[in-house]
Amino acid sequence: MKVLKFGGTSVGSPERMKKLLDIINPNERQIVVLSAVSGTTNSLVEIGQAYLASDKPKANLLIKTLKDKYEVFITELFANTAYREQAKEIIDYHFDLLYAFSNDLFTTIEDKVIVAQGELLSTTLYHVYLKEIGVPSVLLPALDFMKIDADNEPIVDYITDHIQPFLDAAPDINLFITQGYICRNSFGEIDNLRRGGSDYTASLIGAGIRSEEVQIWTDIDGMHNNDPRIVKGTKPIANLSFDEAAELAYFGAKILHPQSVFPAQKYKIPVRLLNTMEPKAFGTLISSESEKGKIKSIAAKDGITAIKIHSSRMLLAYGFLRRVFEVFERYKTPIDMITTSEVAVSVTIDETKYLGEITKELSDFGVVEVDVNQTIVCVVGDLSADSHGFGARILDSIKHIPLRMISYGGSEHNVSFLIKTEDKVEALRSLHNRLFE
Ligand code: ASP
Ligand code: MG
Repeated sequence: MKVLKFGGTSVGSPERMKKLLDIINPNERQIVVLSAVSGTTNSLVEIGQAYLASDKPKANLLIKTLKDKYEVFITELFANTAYREQAKEIIDYHFDLLYAFSNDLFTTIEDKVIVAQGELLSTTLYHVYLKEIGVPSVLLPALDFMKIDADNEPIVDYITDHIQPFLDAAPDINLFITQGYICRNSFGEIDNLRRGGSDYTASLIGAGIRSEEVQIWTDIDGMHNNDPRIVKGTKPIANLSFDEAAELAYFGAKILHPQSVFPAQKYKIPVRLLNTMEPKAFGTLISSESEKGKIKSIAAKDGITAIKIHSSRMLLAYGFLRRVFEVFERYKTPIDMITTSEVAVSVTIDETKYLGEITKELSDFGVVEVDVNQTIVCVVGDLSADSHGFGARILDSIKHIPLRMISYGGSEHNVSFLIKTEDKVEALRSLHNRLFE
């Protein structure tokens, strides 16, 4: 059984919603995961912020604006008055709920209930639409089977145990529609998998039911081998291994939620990235297969801060790095890249909320230097020690650009280096010319 996920723009208008059936095959058993209609989650976040700021008039205004949009949406989605009325009731139900929150009892718990309404709306409306056109489907309540634990980690076994009965209860139905993004937490409260989390839902369900394939339908023809906004002539990458996809996901290859790779990888479920506008195109297939001797992609991430700790105490000492890392741990700040010499260590971070505190504590160990406005550029592909020549080619193509850090050998799929953001465009173009042209 396949799992198909459609993002916000794929359900962003009544016309697009109707077109989903060009892709979904009602004669095949599938689970269809939908995001909220595009723009909805952003509006819901704003509504929550207005309540949190005790600005009820603003919340009311935002709710009304969003509701108006949905009222137009259903007049175009439904042809038949009876179904349109049913849809109107659905909209009233969800929007009455949004209006019902009051400022004084508003906490992050209520806030999460608000942002969950987008996916509940899109899936329920789509389910009624399928009814109207006579396509049998079952609406699967994600809140009954998507669960995260106390560390916000999804529990795949729970998903398996709780989704399967729904599937077994409807042996003659092919289409199962469900909500992306939303889940319950360890307290049983409504929660979510963070922004863009519908991909993650699809991959978790794929893992939970040991699906034959997960398809992520978006507006792009797969993951590209470089940033198309910067480099001309980028191409979709046909095949990526899970490891390569995981490396790229960090670099904000926006097309796939970074964590989506892991459940699929663990249960070896192939993930296809496909384009709703060009359904026949191959897109990108992410699977356990890796290709020898091939460079797959170049990616970059801006907004990086580099921190160097220079200390003669590091020489021949043990435990030094641990103490350095503990500082970052205390401030819950992830480290991305690390390079060391005998007397200094450099790390990069992209979360700078506690930069001041961190550098202050680090200065107990030695001299601390901070460089802002840095960019990590990474080259992903078969960079194992026995595939020759890529390292030299990569370095040669950027020899005119000052390098702040370089990291190789952490995995067999990645070489990363840190440069000034102002040099990024040149670096991406030179690498592209040298590695792909
Ligand atoms: N609707 C949610 C968001 O906008 C989840 C998703 O679209 O993947 O972040
Ligand atoms: Mg998305």
